[in-house]
Amino acid sequence: MRWLVMTALLAAGWGGFAYSAWQRWRLMRSARRPEKRWDRPGERIRSVLVYMFGQKRMVRYPLAGWAHIAVFFGFLVLLLNTLILWGRAYDPEFEFWVFGHDQPLGKVYALLRDVFTVLVIAGVLVFYWNRLVLRLKRLTLNFEGLLILTIIFVMMIADLLYEGGGLVRRWRSGEQQSLVAWGMPFASATALWMKGWPEGLCRMAEQAGYWAHATLVLVFLNLLPYGKHFHVVTVLPNVFFRQLKPSGWLRPIPDIDGRLERGEVLGARRVADLSWKCVLDMYTCTECGRCSDQCPATQTGKLLSPKHFMISLRDHVYRRGPKWLEAGGKPAQDEQDILVPQVVPAEVLWACTTCGACEHECPVFITYIDKIMELRRHLVMEQGQFPEQLQTAFRGLETVGNPYSFANEQRAEWAAGLSVPLRADRPDAEWLFWVGCACSFDDRAKKIARATAELLLEAGVDFAILGPEEQCTGDPARRAGNEYLFAMLAQANVETLNRYGVKNIVTTCPHCLHTLRNEYPDFGGHFEVIHHSVLLADLVRAGRLVPRHPVPATVVYHDACYLGRHNGVFQAPRELLSRIPGLAVVEAGQCRDRGMCCGAGGAQMWKEEEHGTSRVNHARVRQLLAVLPQMDSGRMIASACPFCMTMLTDACKDQGHDDVQQLDIAELLHRAVVRKTPVAVMEQA
Ligand code: SF4
Ligand code: SF4
Repeated sequence: MRWLVMTALLAAGWGGFAYSAWQRWRLMRSARRPEKRWDRPGERIRSVLVYMFGQKRMVRYPLAGWAHIAVFFGFLVLLLNTLILWGRAYDPEFEFWVFGHDQPLGKVYALLRDVFTVLVIAGVLVFYWNRLVLRLKRLTLNFEGLLILTIIFVMMIADLLYEGGGLVRRWRSGEQQSLVAWGMPFASATALWMKGWPEGLCRMAEQAGYWAHATLVLVFLNLLPYGKHFHVVTVLPNVFFRQLKPSGWLRPIPDIDGRLERGEVLGARRVADLSWKCVLDMYTCTECGRCSDQCPATQTGKLLSPKHFMISLRDHVYRRGPKWLEAGGKPAQDEQDILVPQVVPAEVLWACTTCGACEHECPVFITYIDKIMELRRHLVMEQGQFPEQLQTAFRGLETVGNPYSFANEQRAEWAAGLSVPLRADRPDAEWLFWVGCACSFDDRAKKIARATAELLLEAGVDFAILGPEEQCTGDPARRAGNEYLFAMLAQANVETLNRYGVKNIVTTCPHCLHTLRNEYPDFGGHFEVIHHSVLLADLVRAGRLVPRHPVPATVVYHDACYLGRHNGVFQAPRELLSRIPGLAVVEAGQCRDRGMCCGAGGAQMWKEEEHGTSRVNHARVRQLLAVLPQMDSGRMIASACPFCMTMLTDACKDQGHDDVQQLDIAELLHRAVVRKTPVAVMEQA
């Protein structure tokens, strides 16, 4: 009878799960954009080992992280126990041979099972605590989450009763001498507690424990595809198929002209225009809220919260999916399936700075920037819907090759009075100094270009600039969703750089660095691109620049997202600062890969910020100044990006911190090496 009940339960449980999983699979395939994620299998396997089995990102939030580790490994260990329990419906003595109770591995397994039963209970209690007592803002309190936690909790208590009851039964029948099994401390403690119970109650508890575990696990299995715990199934493929392109990289739209001619969708209008991996991302969101916890837009009260963005898309897929499946999984044409604004308000999309904080935090490697960009692309290129201030930048980029709308002939004016050669005159120069639009046209940023050029000249570096032949890399257009304009600029720049046979590029702008290094290869441009902080640090290390003049001040360094998080340059600017005599360096609370964005990225520089509780640059300056008390010797914020400089300077002014100096790391080094400030040099010029 027992085997019959178990057979019926297993058939119903696994049958139900297989049906639901099949529906999810079909739904995933209704996203039609092709996406290849089979390259670099070794690296993919390594990712699974490090990030899934190694749980590497989990401990970035230590308490929740360790609780998850306990539950995750408990799940793996107790999976075997579940199989054993199912087997015992057919044979009460069933054991897997090597894990038999008298086998060495069996003894180790019994100990692991016992310990993990309690560790899982502890982990679940931490999750309850975070949700019900601390009510952490990043978490969403929902019925499904609490139900699953309760199922896990009850299963673990059931295991203790089953094992404890079994020990009491075998001790009473004389099958074993002692009530205590030393290899199972927690089951033994349960047995000691049950020792005085009447025999009938003990047997009932043992049986209840058995059936509770054996059936609840099937209930759990069938709930998975309908909520956030589906990640239990999808996390492995999601980590395996993760994006291996550089952080912040955006995919080009292939044959963009042909698509326009054929009237094909540009960007994403519906889920059907996304890829299967986008839907797998939606399935995998655990709703842990770490992404939103780090997001500068969420932190400053904008409508954007990456977690809710992901959940809105997922709920839309679940809500509308049955209709799509009825239509044979064909891309839906219904108005209700248009994503913006029905599912995602446009303000959500325009609040993103593409800083990458969310993607670097997500423990299951969900990406958001790609989806936000696909939606922006559709709005901009097909609907003509975008914040009107962007129009000025687009027009400048289209007509004169820079978003400031200056005549491109003025590009090299910042170098007046310096012997900086043009590439046309020095075609064999070792380095190309890519100046970028900000350092070419913005009066404050021009000083960064001058300081850098003077340092390179001082160190005897063989370099040249393109001057009027340089155009904007197209970064503002690309991040604003105007891929067509970006592609035009990228092709023109690649053509110029390849014509000159450029191999090595140094730039002061992290946005140029990112685009030239990570995105131009898709347009035929393959260059070694480094940031000026890296080259300057090399020159100081080699003794070609000697910072000998003290700069008496205290400085806090602000990490630019496109330099640090997206391109991994954290150390070089810090090394430079540490080598300047007299300069005291302090770290911000949120720094390195958790450094907060300045608010300029993702084309925000060229538009008004979305409405929120604070401006992003104001919030960042508050964080920086929290570790930089007012002092006599002077306080400074050092940055390594001309756009960060603008944002932080504006925020200091707005907040009345006129005493705080803003300097690029090149300007600070310039003070220590050359003594004359680039400002003075410029004025002389
Ligand atoms: S990229 Fe930055 S601004 Fe955009 S959603 Fe992620 S954390 Fe928020
Ligand atoms: S997207 Fe990632 S970080 Fe954000 S809530 Fe989901 S699992 Fe957590």
